[in-house]
Amino acid sequence: DRFVSPVADGEEKVIEAALRPKRLDEFVGQARVREQLSLVLHSALRRGRPPDHLLMSGPPGLGKTTLAMIISGELGMPLRISSGPAIERAGDLAAVLSTLSEGEVLFLDEIHRMARPAEEMLYVAMEDFRVDVVVGKGPGATAIPLDIAPFTLVGATTRAGLLPAPLRDRFGFVAHMDFYEPADLERIIERSARLLNVRMDEAGGAEIAKRSRGTPRIANRLLRRVRDYAEVRADGFITEQIAQDALSLYEVDAEGLDRLDRGVLDALMRKFGGGPVGLSTLAVAVGEEPETVEVVAEPFLVRKGLIARTPRGRIATPAAWRYLGITPPLSVEG
Ligand code: ATP
Repeated sequence: DRFVSPVADGEEKVIEAALRPKRLDEFVGQARVREQLSLVLHSALRRGRPPDHLLMSGPPGLGKTTLAMIISGELGMPLRISSGPAIERAGDLAAVLSTLSEGEVLFLDEIHRMARPAEEMLYVAMEDFRVDVVVGKGPGATAIPLDIAPFTLVGATTRAGLLPAPLRDRFGFVAHMDFYEPADLERIIERSARLLNVRMDEAGGAEIAKRSRGTPRIANRLLRRVRDYAEVRADGFITEQIAQDALSLYEVDAEGLDRLDRGVLDALMRKFGGGPVGLSTLAVAVGEEPETVEVVAEPFLVRKGLIARTPRGRIATPAAWRYLGITPPLSVEG
């Protein structure tokens, strides 16, 4: 639906798999996370023991799944993939945990959306490599402890703040992923263009990078759309002009803001005079779930310096008024 949505759809997952870096040194950007991770992994390899459990947090599309795959590759251990919403009952988790092999990497995406009883089972599994399987019901119910193979949990979340402290504390390492700089996105786009056999000059790549919302998934998607445009309307070669024309056609503006981002800004300023306004009120005004506004639109708008979160609600910054080209009410101008 949203053209620059950071969330991947079905067919896109296949293309993404082909563009995924396989090793840590192919992973572009996030220098600090990469270095921290490299230390954790190498020391584990030296000791011949599984590393501590790892948590990755940050907005969608920044490479959390890619990193989980790299971790399993670098450790030379198999990877099992599941997600919080798929685990509805503690039994679902017990089934996964009890079939892990020694040293296996378990990737749990959207770990903050796991059911409560499963979460409690996970604490124990992470710490003691044990699950307590409850047999029977009511007063006669007994918990039978079952040893499981030592494994490495890699959790991913877009909302680290929602994780209960006991779960967060059981991760030995938390990687905070942030939006990518345009220079890093340029490298990602160049690499993807090479893999997809797309011809492009430097200025063409830079233009796509600038409009990619700091997100590799969006960068790869915009590259494919600009390629389509270049093939149909020109000779297939991507220049700055071609990139600009293609992306305006798709309503991605020069700052990389998409329709939801602009909708949120527009509502905040035109309907609520620049705020402060609460998240749920704002979400209703743009016809989206509060979580979508909070997880998808806001982090980027905050990063761009267009909105600020205050204890009283969201407010538009002076840069936002300039961006939309409307005059702020007097109280904001001063
Ligand atoms: P979600 O949370 O929605 O699953 P994610 O954060 O796990 O998203 P990935 O699926 O890992 O994101 O990455 C999305 C796409 O971006 C992949 O195709 C991957 O190839 C590409 N990508 C992500 N990070 C990088 C990077 N640092 N270098 C090169 N390509 C990257």
